[in-house]
Amino acid sequence: MLSVILPAYNEEKMIQKAADTIDGILTGAQIPYEIVFVNDGSKDRTWQEIEQAAQRNPNVTGINFSRNFGKESAMFAGLANASGECCAVMDCDLQHPPEVLVDMYRLWEQGCEVVEGVKRSRGKETALHRASAGLFYRIISKAVRIDMSHASDFKLLDRRAVEALLDMPERNIFFRALSSWIGFKSASVEFDVQERTEGESKWSTVSLIQYAVKNIVSFSTVPMQMVTVAGALVFLMAIILGIQSLAHYFTGHAVEGFTTVILLLLILGSIIMISLGIIGYYIAKIYEEVKRRPRYLISRKLERRAADRQMGDKAELKS
Ligand code: UDP
Ligand code: MG
Repeated sequence: MLSVILPAYNEEKMIQKAADTIDGILTGAQIPYEIVFVNDGSKDRTWQEIEQAAQRNPNVTGINFSRNFGKESAMFAGLANASGECCAVMDCDLQHPPEVLVDMYRLWEQGCEVVEGVKRSRGKETALHRASAGLFYRIISKAVRIDMSHASDFKLLDRRAVEALLDMPERNIFFRALSSWIGFKSASVEFDVQERTEGESKWSTVSLIQYAVKNIVSFSTVPMQMVTVAGALVFLMAIILGIQSLAHYFTGHAVEGFTTVILLLLILGSIIMISLGIIGYYIAKIYEEVKRRPRYLISRKLERRAADRQMGDKAELKS
């Protein structure tokens, strides 16, 4: 069975549409499936819509978070509560075309354990957005040692890969990169990012920057090494200026150089403050991790009607 996991945050208009579209495509391709909606603390009627969708279609089930925990947590909750032999994760705004699920499933049947959805085009974006996304993915790609520039959260994972992901103890999770980091036999399927038909994107510029910084820190220690590099550069400057000052002293022009002193103080002061900030950020992340708080809290969970029945059938067949 294929479990399709759909994180949803304020997507009341998309729930029924997503459930119907995916049902149509997977039933047409004769793929047994379940749909797991994860309501990430929506402020609108998303949860009620999920309950209704579950009533209409026995293959639909849902999890309700106690508050908004973010998409990464929602995807993990979906994986932890899915019962299929393979699990697909996709956006519930249908920007990830559900027809691609069929191709992914066929690749999985041929033995691929991780099927990555790769963006053929990145959809409509401003030049600045494209440039900063480019920089972000260059840093992440270096850390994971895989080209991530076209990576997306649209993936299909075999049970083994899902278990490997669920075994990760860290709280700060970056699903897109972790699913490459775990390895396994992988394949990729290209897709075009679709236009959003209802509602709006949840990402503002500020939240995107926060997202980028958080994920770079969770995957790489390069920013901290930059502190060392900055230190080395300042040291080089210290040697040169030191020699110059000594030369001045011995030739008897030692009073000059007030500007140099001011500049040095300013430059060193800012480098030290920025470095402390970078190290502080890592310490904050360590602090968050050692608290071992759960990634998410579930307030309600729908019964899995169809899945249980299917599992029961399978057990009967086996015995
Ligand atoms: N999402 C979520 N929690 C959040 C923000 C978003 O579960 O805090 C879900 C959202 O419902 C959607 C997916 O993540 O299914 C992608 O969100 P969105 O469409 O806003 O992002 P974009 O497509 O613009 O990158
Ligand atoms: Mg979207």
